[in-house]
Amino acid sequence: MEDVVCNVCKSDDTSLLLIKDSLRIVKCFRCGLIYVNPRVAKEDLGKIYNRDYFDGSRQADFLAEKKLYLQRFQERLREIIAIKRVKGKLLDIGCAVGYFLEVVRREGWQASGVEISSFAAKYAKESGFDIFTGTIEEANYPAYSFDAATLWHTLEHMRDPLGSLEEVHRILKKNGLIAIEVPNIGSREFRKQRENWDYLKPKEHLYYFTPEVLKKMVEKAGFKVIKVTTLPKGTGIGEKLGNLGLGRLKKQLVKSFNYLSWIKKSILYLKKFSGDDIILLYALK
Ligand SMILES: [Zn+2]
Repeated sequence: MEDVVCNVCKSDDTSLLLIKDSLRIVKCFRCGLIYVNPRVAKEDLGKIYNRDYFDGSRQADFLAEKKLYLQRFQERLREIIAIKRVKGKLLDIGCAVGYFLEVVRREGWQASGVEISSFAAKYAKESGFDIFTGTIEEANYPAYSFDAATLWHTLEHMRDPLGSLEEVHRILKKNGLIAIEVPNIGSREFRKQRENWDYLKPKEHLYYFTPEVLKKMVEKAGFKVIKVTTLPKGTGIGEKLGNLGLGRLKKQLVKSFNYLSWIKKSILYLKKFSGDDIILLYALK
């Protein structure tokens, strides 16, 4: 185990928010950042991101749900293109098996990735991408290398998120774009579900953000934030839309003519799409 201070303001003044998997999740009194302390040491963390992390044995099934990932990534890239306008060099940090890079390449951008999992990095390399296996700091790209950098559900896994954002700032070109998607611990869902909230995984999710705290951290790294939004669960990267999908509702309607149950399911479906579980942020260097 390893003790840390607040990543943003270096203070050690915290209150206990809750305990999960025997790990303490604390909130900084000074800046509001929520983090795991003490946390699993780096030497023991490496073993988390092996093959079973990506094939569904443990969580999101990257390999079976490729179509869903590509569709969601296409939407994200469209937003990036709307901001950046020109095609250039994009770096996906925490690129996993490289699905976002596929979408980026298809649009005519130059796509590179950084990934700490050697299993996932190898998979992405086999698709012909330039992948660095390790952390963004270890990659040590020259300054002003990229037009855009993306962190899709990566920042919450990082051991020094502010330091990593500063590194991204260094390697981006002037006016370069950073796009970040993370779980939102300021969400109604977290307040309701607490320990049972899907994104509360203190072994691997070391940091938890609200839109305000994320914005503060990104600004501290030197960026100008241009857009922060929250999204419902089910529209984030890798989220399954199918679980309570309309197709199933229709089938049920035809099958049973049980309208009351159909209405109940419809309300559940609408709830799923009206949450604010996810934060999506865009900023410029
Ligand atoms: Zn703090």
